[in-house]
Amino acid sequence: MLKRLLPNLACILCNQHSNSAVCDFCKNDTAFFYDPDKPTNLLHRPEIARHVKHSAIDGLYAIGPYQWPLNQLLLRLKTSRDMRPAGVMAEWFVCAMDDMCLPDQLLPVPITYWRYFQRRYNQSVELAKLVGQPLNLPINTQWARRKSARQQTGLNRQQRLQNLRQAYEVVNTPPCAHVAIVDDVITTGSTVDVLAKQLRLRHPHIKIDVWTMAVTLAH
Ligand SMILES: [Zn+2]
Repeated sequence: MLKRLLPNLACILCNQHSNSAVCDFCKNDTAFFYDPDKPTNLLHRPEIARHVKHSAIDGLYAIGPYQWPLNQLLLRLKTSRDMRPAGVMAEWFVCAMDDMCLPDQLLPVPITYWRYFQRRYNQSVELAKLVGQPLNLPINTQWARRKSARQQTGLNRQQRLQNLRQAYEVVNTPPCAHVAIVDDVITTGSTVDVLAKQLRLRHPHIKIDVWTMAVTLAH
């Protein structure tokens, strides 16, 4: 299925001739977190974990830092209806997560109806589908809701956090022991942490991982 999304044209990043959606040169320029000598769970790497809020999550898995070309692939996924960037990132994610303990269900982070109306898709759902398919994992898109919240600009830190807490609501507790929340990019970790806390309240023993394509390391 991933192959069908990746026609043999030009590299979507540099436009040079390529047999894959992203050419070998661009792939070689990508910083991957994957390192056989280090834990795959990024929360076990202090140099990465300290950048991400994780009071209610057990594991964090990502391809690499939010920088070129992952930032470009993510931007393209959100602003065009081109799904090739999602195919590339899903393939890179699955390859790097070889020995990982798989969850029972994938839970994509919801977007507002307004955003969905504008974009016509939720990028986290599309990524969850492409990552879940080769791993044979079911996707639950009905687990949480994103309400239209106030703009975050002009609010202080406390107000922003309060605003975020009110913006997301877990509506269905997944009937399983281990889940992975799927988000396209993790900037501070606040969003997934808010959702994970709500899940944890309803289901104290659930194991909660976060699967994302990129993590912002410098704030
Ligand atoms: Zn290229």
